Amino acid sequence: MIHEITPDIYYPEYRNIKSANLDTALVYSGKSAILVLKDNEGYRLPTIGEIKEIKSIEKDSETYNDYYLFSISENKYFLVELQDAVNDKITYIKTLDENPRDEELYMNKYVYMSIHRFRELNPVVMVFAGATGYHIRNWKETVKYCGKCGSITKPSDTERAFVCTGCGHTAYPQVAPAVIVAVINKDKILLVRNLKRPKNVRLELVSGYVEVGESFEHAVHREVMEEVGLKIKDIWFYKDQPWGISGAHMIGYVAYVDGDDTIVKQDDEIIEAKWYTRDEVPEYRNRLSVGSEMILKFKTGEIK
Ligand SMILES: [Zn+2]
Repeated sequence: MIHEITPDIYYPEYRNIKSANLDTALVYSGKSAILVLKDNEGYRLPTIGEIKEIKSIEKDSETYNDYYLFSISENKYFLVELQDAVNDKITYIKTLDENPRDEELYMNKYVYMSIHRFRELNPVVMVFAGATGYHIRNWKETVKYCGKCGSITKPSDTERAFVCTGCGHTAYPQVAPAVIVAVINKDKILLVRNLKRPKNVRLELVSGYVEVGESFEHAVHREVMEEVGLKIKDIWFYKDQPWGISGAHMIGYVAYVDGDDTIVKQDDEIIEAKWYTRDEVPEYRNRLSVGSEMILKFKTGEIK
């Protein structure tokens, strides 16, 4: 899964430190895209030093600034913003099939890649860093001004938070818990297609956000009833994982149909919901998400 980066170690603790040229720069654009650099080995994340080169080339570049995100093993990661004038020159690629020509790469190396295309790259530790930085960046965008009084905020010196310069209100990052459940009916698994996802979306498990005041298990029962009208029993916890791409934290469960197995779609967001045998379950590209991993483990018989 996306956070399984052994032998690397993730250090999320906030540190009030400045970047060095060899640290890694995470740069995002408004189009849900991440800046990557193409070299002989393929795509990789740029260093702070490489980003400073871009800034110094741009005549009207502002004073350099960055924001410490986290460390992975010995590597430190910083969030850096580029100006619109620079961003406008960088090509944006969205799909898996697009491969920019050299002349489309900014300064012969940079391209903005859709975060969904980025997650198909390797190694996983790079994808994890990009997705986790994206989560923090998206939160940071929402706390530039205080949600209580509207004054400007500034980063806390001591913790991962933004503090209001007017009323002192402190805004912390938000992680949205969501349950995802493999519903099993003897030798079949329930897979759905969700209207909210992009076209050609692959089949997925029932999932949904946990409501305020609700336990995870309660959310599992409620989501399955809401989406497909099924009663379930014998629920067991599988694994959980961060999912920075949507700012969520996924909590994976397995459950079994209790009684009638007739699917009654009750949610307009679900466009298709069917039972699939192990043979009918399609192959998946990778195991980045806990949902894909559970589906794959059902297919191989590891989840029964
Ligand atoms: Zn305030």
